[in-house]
Amino acid sequence: MRLLLVEDEKRMAQALCEILRLEKYEVDHYADGLSGLTAIESDIYDIIILDVMLPGMNGFEIVKKARQKGIRTPILMLTAKSELEDKITGLDGGADDYLTKPFMTKELLARLRALGRRNINTPDGTLTFGDISLDTNTLTLTCTINRQSVRLSEKEYRILEYLIANQGQILTREQLAVKIWGFENDTEYNNVEVYMSFTRKKLTFVGAKTEIKAVRGMGYKLRCDNV
Ligand code: CA
Repeated sequence: MRLLLVEDEKRMAQALCEILRLEKYEVDHYADGLSGLTAIESDIYDIIILDVMLPGMNGFEIVKKARQKGIRTPILMLTAKSELEDKITGLDGGADDYLTKPFMTKELLARLRALGRRNINTPDGTLTFGDISLDTNTLTLTCTINRQSVRLSEKEYRILEYLIANQGQILTREQLAVKIWGFENDTEYNNVEVYMSFTRKKLTFVGAKTEIKAVRGMGYKLRCDNV
């Protein structure tokens, strides 16, 4: 799960990054409001942790602008105890949850798990599109018509999850590469095509009519015409 932390207090940010990476989150960190907002607008994150008092632009403005642009990523706001009013303002502006500083690590991780589930999982732990369903716990792909199933690799799963979450939209190869492999891995760029082909083979294997369409020069989208 890819997480964005926008926090200007250096020690706090360092400690949080360390904890979150130990918990197997992939974390990017920005220390000011403007680069934070730009990162949020890239729409590649599963969860955002956003401090309120930031140089450049405060957390409330960032949430408002992000929501106006249609970014639906769950946002957890961090507020100082003296800013209790912030809770109301933050949640009104489109944040999903808030945490008052100082907080316990355990509390933060519990909130993140809850937001992560809200983001990707339906209540029964499956994602569906056309004639396919994805089990988000076992990473199993099932054709809902013939009940044929196959286990996906982690990358194949994440490709389908991302496509389902953005159904109706075309996702570029860049978006997919960054979402699934991260900013730092230029060399993995061509992996998108390789893994697309693996994922298509799994769709064919279960006999699904749902397909990953390549839109020439633009990217990929999910399509299911005949169900
Ligand atoms: Ca701050």
